[in-house]
Amino acid sequence: MTILSNSRDAAAPWEISHGAHPEHTLRRQTTTGAAAAAPGAADLQFQRDGCKEPGAGDRYACRPCDFDLHVECALAETVMAHPLFKDAQFRLQELLRPGGGHDDDNAGSGSGSGSILCVACGGEVLGLHYHCAANARKKKGYLGLDIHPWCAALPREIRREELTLELRKEAFHRCDSCPSRRDIGGWFYRSTCKTVYLHVACVKGIMIADGGGGGSSGSTDPLAAVKEAALRIYRAKKDEEGEVERVILALVLGG
Ligand SMILES: [Zn+2]
Ligand SMILES: [Zn+2]
Ligand SMILES: [Zn+2]
Ligand SMILES: [Zn+2]
Repeated sequence: MTILSNSRDAAAPWEISHGAHPEHTLRRQTTTGAAAAAPGAADLQFQRDGCKEPGAGDRYACRPCDFDLHVECALAETVMAHPLFKDAQFRLQELLRPGGGHDDDNAGSGSGSGSILCVACGGEVLGLHYHCAANARKKKGYLGLDIHPWCAALPREIRREELTLELRKEAFHRCDSCPSRRDIGGWFYRSTCKTVYLHVACVKGIMIADGGGGGSSGSTDPLAAVKEAALRIYRAKKDEEGEVERVILALVLGG
């Protein structure tokens, strides 16, 4: 990736040249709440080139070719350290054989048939992704770690008012967004008060459904809809708890 023309925000250049689409330059397309609500908003929710994941929010695009990259994929570093895996080094790579594993994992494990799943969202890896092979030696038959660039870039904490959601890899719980599905795998966002649990996959789903532009609020925060949903769940659960307490109190006092 080469930065061609920079905006004032050095972390988000306006124009880049990227190896995934070398023939043309890619321009940053921003999404605002107003744009997301405008006709054609469905256009904001389609598959991105590169990682082949659905998209939400800002992207780098070549309009004539209908080519799009997530900002996270376009600006992804070749080597990444993830805060939840302190000692692991992840390398950015393309999926060379769709539906296949990695060269470094496959020796003797016979895993060529299995698809690669993202450790964060449990979804299939279809294109550009981060791979860590370091664990292959530690645990026999272990396929290493893979993670979508978008998932890798999700924040460790999401805060809104009294609620703080933390990214956890070891939380197994019923998800407040999809209570009937227990087996989708992947990590959770858990509120520090342990009231709200959301799959990373469901958090991404909320962002995609919202178009990544803060929806009706007109905010440019791509997580605005997630924060709103989490706060709604939190308050509904607190109300329920309050209701149960009132009933118990009434029984005690009444008895
Ligand atoms: Zn992507
Ligand atoms: Zn093009
Ligand atoms: Zn993922
Ligand atoms: Zn869920």
